[in-house]
Amino acid sequence: MTKRLYIETVGCQMNVLDSELVVGSLRRHGYELTHEVTEADVILFNTCSVRQHAEEKIYSALGRLRSHKQRHPSKIVGVLGCMAQKDQELVRKRAPHVDIVCGTGQLSRLPELIAEVERTGLPQLALSLDRAEASRPEVEQSFESYDPLRDPSMRPSPFQAYVRIMIGCDKFCTYCIVPSVRGPEQSRHPEHIAAEVRQLADEGCKEITLLGQTVNSYKYDSGDGRRLRLSELLGRIHDTTGIERIKFITNFPKDMTDDLLDAVRELPKVCPYLHVPAQSGCNDVLKRMKRLYTAEYYRDMLARCRENVPGVAVSSDFIVGFCGETEESFQRSCDLVREAGFKNSFIFKYSPRPGTKADDLYPDDVAEEVKKRRNNDLLAIQNAVSLQDHRARIGQIVEVLVEGPSKAALKRDSGSGLVQLTGRTMTDHIVVFEGNERLVGQTVEVMVQEATAFTLFGTVVTEKRVGFLPDGHRSSDRDGQPGKKTDRVALPVI
Ligand code: SAM
Ligand code: SF4
Repeated sequence: MTKRLYIETVGCQMNVLDSELVVGSLRRHGYELTHEVTEADVILFNTCSVRQHAEEKIYSALGRLRSHKQRHPSKIVGVLGCMAQKDQELVRKRAPHVDIVCGTGQLSRLPELIAEVERTGLPQLALSLDRAEASRPEVEQSFESYDPLRDPSMRPSPFQAYVRIMIGCDKFCTYCIVPSVRGPEQSRHPEHIAAEVRQLADEGCKEITLLGQTVNSYKYDSGDGRRLRLSELLGRIHDTTGIERIKFITNFPKDMTDDLLDAVRELPKVCPYLHVPAQSGCNDVLKRMKRLYTAEYYRDMLARCRENVPGVAVSSDFIVGFCGETEESFQRSCDLVREAGFKNSFIFKYSPRPGTKADDLYPDDVAEEVKKRRNNDLLAIQNAVSLQDHRARIGQIVEVLVEGPSKAALKRDSGSGLVQLTGRTMTDHIVVFEGNERLVGQTVEVMVQEATAFTLFGTVVTEKRVGFLPDGHRSSDRDGQPGKKTDRVALPVI
């Protein structure tokens, strides 16, 4: 009989990709995916440990499962990923009904671990080495890159996929748990990446997002003294037939080199969109965070991005309420957000992480209410900036890769046969418009007519699809063509 698998994922894109790969691998071992936890034979939680809140969510979900597991002891419960690597045996102390604890670097062993629980009934722990416990090569080996065959059904959409180009992180920002739970930075072989991109394109994928904690630090030493960087990797995969868009996240400000910016400008399929977290606008805070740059350096880097890649959209992350952040240092972050023109920013309240340098060295001395207030204030400033950026796009024609019905469309039916669709531009702006559902997966041109801080609203211009010709050139221009320059009419596509 087919066995059923339930998987819940929290955290970043890396976790979404890991879950896709886990499902792909377990399907090949006869498992079928279910969205009902009570129907599943194997229940997995792929976890995040970047902030405490993400961990609490998982421990509560595990708590809710306890009586279900008592009633059905043969069901297998597994905790995977970052929290598994961080908490190790503590997971079973807090939730003794967990059968499997499996870290990010050991996911390939999951089928074997499940079989072992079935055979012995005993709990199984699969963890990578602590970075301080062994030599770098040994630790690297214990964090293997997990990139088996893919499972299209687990992707954000069938025509969009993540591709891991590196694992781990060597930056050791003082607040961050990632270098311990995802291990040393290791870049994947460019040929393996290129082969995966070809395979995804053959399966109908049009947009790929290259993933790395500091994706622009990608470097592969070929052994003959040559070092391949992200700019060259982009060049290698650019002409893959079928691929129309290439994005890459997340960038580290110090590694934003000119050769990379030149590649973004010169390669038409590479999206002019850069996610480059600043974290703070205050030099004292940046120093305590060990971000390795100053606010002035960040501003210069931003100017270089805008100069080298005209029309580039930049987004950022900020942490508010980090240890020792005074009202004045917080104001420096506000200044940066006011000036930088970010498309959007993700703003987080500092969450102390046991095992990080900041947790050892500095007291968590900003009160929770202050963190909350700073979070809201910074968000309000960013929203005003985003609204301005969005309003400036009214009247432009943008290329939108249609992702599916909007959230609102899922709730209501306009009765016109058209649905409200949503998609993204090359600059990662979200666009909502009416159209036929058959446009999902297509790239269409939309005239922007209205804007909020989060969304552009528009009308499809023509039925003409935008794409790439076999020679790698675009069949249409890039985003942001002013509407008046064309003779196209705005018609809803049916
Ligand atoms: N590697 C990416 C980088 O350096 O920008 C981001 C990795 S982290 C998973 C994503 C974001 O979470 C970070 O940019 C940071 O803003 C936030 N973050 C990390 N540790 C945090 C902590 N202890 N408390 C609050 N936010 C945190
Ligand atoms: Fe964490 Fe810093 Fe590495 Fe990003 S660069 S994953 S914030 S240690």
